[in-house]
Amino acid sequence: MNQSDPRTVAPELSVVIPVYNEEEGLAALFSRLYPALDALGTSYEVIFINDGSRDRSPAMLADQFRARPDTTRVILLNGNYGQHMAILAGFEQSRGQIVITLDADLQNPPEEIGKLCAKMREGFDYVGTIRMQRRDSLWRRKASLAMNRLRERITRIKMTDQGCMLRAYSRHVIDTINRCGEVNTFIPALAYTFAQNPVEIEVAHEERFAGESKYSIYSLIRLNFDLVTGFSVVPLQWLSFIGVILSMGSAALFVLLLIRRFILGAEVQGVFTLFAITFFMLGVIIFALGLLGEYIGRIYQQVRARPRYLVQTILEQRDGEPVAAQPRQSVVQGMQPSPIARDERRQGA
Ligand code: UDP
Ligand code: MG
Repeated sequence: MNQSDPRTVAPELSVVIPVYNEEEGLAALFSRLYPALDALGTSYEVIFINDGSRDRSPAMLADQFRARPDTTRVILLNGNYGQHMAILAGFEQSRGQIVITLDADLQNPPEEIGKLCAKMREGFDYVGTIRMQRRDSLWRRKASLAMNRLRERITRIKMTDQGCMLRAYSRHVIDTINRCGEVNTFIPALAYTFAQNPVEIEVAHEERFAGESKYSIYSLIRLNFDLVTGFSVVPLQWLSFIGVILSMGSAALFVLLLIRRFILGAEVQGVFTLFAITFFMLGVIIFALGLLGEYIGRIYQQVRARPRYLVQTILEQRDGEPVAAQPRQSVVQGMQPSPIARDERRQGA
């Protein structure tokens, strides 16, 4: 490594923050985040990833970079790749021994970062968090509870509150994640699978400072499918199990009807019951096909091995000079996306 490589002056702490259309809340975030980090008395860098925002967020991030070039780096992605991909882009650029993820909407108070760092210094390599008094809508809390229970049953991942993004990871865990190349993933779960000494602590949670949640019901469902399909094949085994039970049930019914045919003669009644049973089974089959499709679609995306995201520019300081650098080769992987790839991504394919 030569002297001009910013990696030679690695800070202890990297804070990774994905930003998507957050212009209304960014000023408040800066005004709380930087004092909280300065108060820690450690070297740090804040990595903002602009996930294809269409508002003033990129300009505001660039202004913040000019205000604090020593501790700020901004990665500008060329499109909207989703929160978890944006964080992965940040991980690739991060240099700290401790890497902390945070939402840009101030739902995760920056003042809690010190608590996570202290826990990491005790020797843990993954600090998970539990939101005390989560400030989200009732249906979101109920849905999360159900998903937490499901994940608990079908994976080996042990987490009380999988949804909180304010988490700390060790350099080793981040390096392993960087080697993965996952396309559809759920970062807290992925990191957990590589952690050797994880711990959980309680943190405060606040209401979104400004703007709306960036997740529609559709994208939330997709994210939860990423979690289920990315970390478990148990649903596929359940399908085989349901298939076996249904086959045995219909075999019994067939024998029953056959015997009945010879004793009582042909039956014509009960046609609608039969319809009901058939439609139920059709439903099961279509659900099974859909679930298979969720797995297969993800396998397809993974095997195509297209670039997961494209970095347009990185704003960072090199040799004490602020520069708008071209991305490192590893991120772009030397390829440009075809127009088809981009269309598919936007449709959530
Ligand atoms: N986000 C992103 N890309 C997206 C959606 C969200 O980078 O496509 C960021 C967003 O700016 C925020 C974080 O991910 O910093 C969490 O998003 P949000 O607060 O909308 O999610 P919620 O709190 O409702 O789960
Ligand atoms: Mg939020």
